[in-house]
Amino acid sequence: MLSHNLGYPRVGSQRELKKASEQFWAGKINRDELQKVARQIRHRNWEAQKEAGIDLIPSNDFSLYDQVLDTSFLVGAIPQRYHQIVDGKSNNELDLYFAMARGVQRDGLDIKAMEMTKWFDTNYHYIVPEFVKDQKFSRYSDKVILEFEDAKQKGILTKPVLVGPVTYLLLGKEKEGGFNRIDLLDNLLPVYIDILKELNKRGAEWVQLDEPCLVLDLTPGEKLAIESAYAQISEAVPDLRILLATYFGALEDNLVLATALPVSALHIDLTRGSETLPAILTSEAFVNSGKILSLGVVDGRNIWKNDYKKSLKFIEWAIAVLGVSRVMVAPSSSLLHSPHDLDLEKNEEVLTPEIKNWMAFAKQKLNEISTLAKLAVTDYSTCPLFEANQVAVESRRTSTLIHKAAVKDRVAAIRSTDFERISVFSERQQIQLEKLKLPLFPSTTIGSFPQTDDVRQLRANLKKGILSLEEYEIRIEEEIVKSLRWQEGLGIDVLVHGEFERNDMVEYFGESLSGFVFTQNGWVQSYGSRCVKPPIIYGDVERPQPMTVRWSAFAQANSEKLVKGMLTGPVTILQWSFVRDDQPRKDTTFQIGLAIRDEVVDLEKAGIKVIQIDEPAIREGLPLRKSAWKAYLKWAVDAFRLSAAGVADQTQIHTHMCYSEFNDIIDSIAAMDADVITIETSRSQMELLDAFADFSYPNEIGPGVYDIHSPRVPTVDEIKSLLEKALQVIPARNLWVNPDCGLKTRKWPETEAALRNMISAANLLREEALAEH
Ligand code: GLN
Ligand code: ZN
Repeated sequence: MLSHNLGYPRVGSQRELKKASEQFWAGKINRDELQKVARQIRHRNWEAQKEAGIDLIPSNDFSLYDQVLDTSFLVGAIPQRYHQIVDGKSNNELDLYFAMARGVQRDGLDIKAMEMTKWFDTNYHYIVPEFVKDQKFSRYSDKVILEFEDAKQKGILTKPVLVGPVTYLLLGKEKEGGFNRIDLLDNLLPVYIDILKELNKRGAEWVQLDEPCLVLDLTPGEKLAIESAYAQISEAVPDLRILLATYFGALEDNLVLATALPVSALHIDLTRGSETLPAILTSEAFVNSGKILSLGVVDGRNIWKNDYKKSLKFIEWAIAVLGVSRVMVAPSSSLLHSPHDLDLEKNEEVLTPEIKNWMAFAKQKLNEISTLAKLAVTDYSTCPLFEANQVAVESRRTSTLIHKAAVKDRVAAIRSTDFERISVFSERQQIQLEKLKLPLFPSTTIGSFPQTDDVRQLRANLKKGILSLEEYEIRIEEEIVKSLRWQEGLGIDVLVHGEFERNDMVEYFGESLSGFVFTQNGWVQSYGSRCVKPPIIYGDVERPQPMTVRWSAFAQANSEKLVKGMLTGPVTILQWSFVRDDQPRKDTTFQIGLAIRDEVVDLEKAGIKVIQIDEPAIREGLPLRKSAWKAYLKWAVDAFRLSAAGVADQTQIHTHMCYSEFNDIIDSIAAMDADVITIETSRSQMELLDAFADFSYPNEIGPGVYDIHSPRVPTVDEIKSLLEKALQVIPARNLWVNPDCGLKTRKWPETEAALRNMISAANLLREEALAEH
């Protein structure tokens, strides 16, 4: 039985590509040096897969930046504004490529980068293709051919991977009106066919076309496009075997369509949507078609060891129905989304051998895939590889490190009243008005202040043991006091402590909660050269002791003004971590919710009257299918409410959200019932306010009045007119004044200038309002 892989991490086990790209961008190494690093990574990846015994090894899964950008490059979808780069002096493909990814600002050129957005529901971001009405496509890059030939030279006949034509179009955006991007299919297909023909001529036996759009809700037109695309491809290159890859979900209503396409093999994701398997195995059309079924049994998006017993059940079932020659074993998706190599985790104090034995990173997953392919055709019950796997699985299932009765009991005992504040918002608002004595249009910031090198150094030195805890705390306290005086000087109404002690808003809490572990090299590509190292939630989550009270209490004790407590919410902590696959995400989120609830209550006890629980990631947890939105939003909102509802009416709960549009989930945001929400809107203020026209948001709200992602300082007038615009749909007593996100990536001078203007705008507005009454 054949094993294959859909894609492999490409940044390098030591993030070599990240380092080389950044050096290249900084002009410190040249093109050839960058390409050399890239080639080495590709070669090592192929070798690793060959060594692991993978039969069909992918090529063109590598990318210098992003595979969707590579596709735009391949088919010549180069937006007009970049043409001057090609036409001009620097006639260099790489310059053009990186200009599209990152924009350019040099030699009198100032060209914006292409937009970037999340790849389905992963944390990987792709470069959004831009299409115009009369969009032409023509083959522009030979990357897929070159990589295929390069591997061939090394004796590996790879399976080239391409983003499929329909998914490619759907991932893009129309940059002008009057057409639908799916209408471009007929222009696009000849380029795909041309490439497939050439690959075929050069000896490729298999090509993998990724069409994850098949797990989404598709319109009838989009379904027709898929049918037409694959009919044309199979007619044009009848000898080339196409493996059509779907992943990240079940096929559901697209199953009949997907199984009927004239391709040689269909890949399905059994880690998300295993219900697709029985549906296919009972589909007469598929069973009689002679097509191969590729089973994505090894999770490409997580770090847990595979349960061989469970996977083998799927594989055996497929073999029983289709015969062994019609089944392939694979990861669920590309391994791009898992960290590189567990063997690099050598610090046993951080990752104990017991916990490590439950895990598999990309390199280990390769072995799982080839082992499963072998086991499936032998009597494996007494095979040592199988037995060792089952020992690990059993150890994880029963370990007291993971399973804590007290935590599970507490979640089981949650009552509906635990989600409810004591009084409804209108009553709370009245009480808070009296107790907090805030002016009309109160001003605040989102939590963090510029993280200078000095502050980063403090944390690093504490970690390294160069700085004692005592010294460290004194230094952080100094930073806090400085920032309090500075905020008071600016005239901000609700202060923050500045988050100087935090490296990252999720990692900081993960480090203080039980049930989390951290890796040293578990990097995953987020976009371009940017990688993240998500915490791993492996067990029941508990809060051994207060996490932030010390700092918030200190800050409040040092100011006459209100100082806001600052926490990260349960959904965001979940969303930005690797999570358990042995219980529903909801259960893990509720456990975190209870831990945050305890922190909120402790903050209140310590005299903190305003507490913010950030949930910037709530929208990105939305399921791919609309039909699953409601259930997700229900438990996500509940988890937030659980974390917030333990306090008295007079304690004001804030939340903060950013990174996305909220118009389509505005009713869920309202259902969170935070007393105040500060929300990113400054880049699309008109859009958010549109939502308010249809839906009157009941609680207090601070629509961000300027974009903190840019160093640009907004003028008083700009801010004031944004606030005036907001006042057309938000009652004056509910309106807050604040930037649209935390300020940690900014520098102090621009932060001060911007906040000064923000406060002036709020003051002007206040004066005008008072004059009117
Ligand atoms: N409180 C966090 C900060 O100010 C919020 C960050 C975020 O929304 N991403 O940095
Ligand atoms: Zn934010």
